[in-house]
Amino acid sequence: MLEIAALYSSLLISQIKGVPQQFLDLKNQLEKYGFEVIIELPPKRGAYGLLKIKEKKIWINPVVFDLQIATPTLIHESVHAAQVCAGKGRIKTLGLELQPIPAARRLFLRYTNIHRQDIEREAYAVQTQPNSLQLATSLLQKYCQK
Ligand SMILES: [Zn+2]
Repeated sequence: MLEIAALYSSLLISQIKGVPQQFLDLKNQLEKYGFEVIIELPPKRGAYGLLKIKEKKIWINPVVFDLQIATPTLIHESVHAAQVCAGKGRIKTLGLELQPIPAARRLFLRYTNIHRQDIEREAYAVQTQPNSLQLATSLLQKYCQK
């Protein structure tokens, strides 16, 4: 697994096969709001996606394209991006009413910090809605549009 992952590091998006249009659209939107999206192994081992708040930099693990979860992964990180915009450089919850589907509960409950749990609960809630892409797009518009 690790060797395969290493081969994938630092690929240009144009070199990756099967990048969904929705992924590209969302990536463009994030870049418009000053976030950098890179397709590279995230500095945190085992993560599919990662956002570094201070640098406004989003890592997307290249393996998500093979797993066909690239768009939901970017949607998840987009919610964190909107949370950063809302917190004006710090991360804050948006106060969404949505709840994640039950199957996603274990994914955010593993975070022991309660603030972090709320942050993740929102990201998983949006990610697991049937209209997740539109939701993420409108959250970015609402909180990041200057
Ligand atoms: Zn997250």
